[in-house]
Amino acid sequence: MGKNIYLGIDVGSVTTKCAVMGEDMELIAHHYIPTSGKPIAQIQKLIREISKEILPDLNIAGVGTTGSARYLAGEIVGADIIKNEITAHAIAATHYFPDVRTIIEIGGQDSKIIIIRNGVVADFGMNTVCAAGTGSFLDHQALRLGIRIEEFAGEAIKSKDPVRIAGRCTVFAESDMIHKQQMGHSTPDILYGLCQALVRNYINNVGLGKRIEAPIIFQGGVAYNKAIIRAFEEELGQEIMVPHHHEVMGAIGAAIIAWENHETTGARTRFKGFSISDICYETSTFTCNGCPNQCEIAQLKQGGQILARWGGRCEKWENVSHVMDKCENTGVLS
Ligand code: SF4
Repeated sequence: MGKNIYLGIDVGSVTTKCAVMGEDMELIAHHYIPTSGKPIAQIQKLIREISKEILPDLNIAGVGTTGSARYLAGEIVGADIIKNEITAHAIAATHYFPDVRTIIEIGGQDSKIIIIRNGVVADFGMNTVCAAGTGSFLDHQALRLGIRIEEFAGEAIKSKDPVRIAGRCTVFAESDMIHKQQMGHSTPDILYGLCQALVRNYINNVGLGKRIEAPIIFQGGVAYNKAIIRAFEEELGQEIMVPHHHEVMGAIGAAIIAWENHETTGARTRFKGFSISDICYETSTFTCNGCPNQCEIAQLKQGGQILARWGGRCEKWENVSHVMDKCENTGVLS
């Protein structure tokens, strides 16, 4: 009997991540790839990569999924436990930093703040609507300035006299940035001004009304950007700590949750095996008429059977067993 390991998968709208943790909660393998609008193919790709990396004497004893496509991922891989991103990020942060009091998480298209007190989530806030406090804000403005996103932080950090960019939203920021360029400000000063604008936006929107207390942990893909870290430290007057594997903390949290679940229940995993990377799934969409939002819902089928649904602004369709009850009762689906 080999050693047990635990798989965590975090599928977001911009990136798909996975982490494999050992029995002593050490990180054995991890991957971070773009979702590229193809979450199923990318989940399969991650499973394929992991199958090549882990030794044959290691045994997947638990699987956890998180992220906006957590139910989809859970169905494809056979998850034992499915949790939201707030829980997964909080579990990972408290694993590495037991005293953490504030978690700043900024991804490609959303951002979050999680307030931790005594090791548990006391409050949280999310921003999924305004791009000005997310990674896509920087991507967009970097493109506008002709700077590759990989060079962004290195250039921004050279700033000596940052310009104040009106960064209330991406449209204002862009027109103000063009104005500052025409005034002759240097590119590093404009780039660092954008970092400061993102930080102000984050604190005034996502962090509104939250008590941001140290120790503060910064995780998510945007934590790669050292200029953003500096801007947060200047704005908050506190040291910002970045975990070594900040970009896969959601997946690490999901793997730890899978381990906790296995320790508590002792149940045999539902993991469907590495061969799921070769299955052909069918996808289709329909419109939900449950409220005026009229969300477009995507559904996953294999051999005519519905495995998962996602894409709504609420979770009405995401749990398939729950959905099937609703379908049968209301005839919403035709
Ligand atoms: S999925 Fe939810 S939010 Fe979207 S239309 Fe249906 S009931 Fe409304």
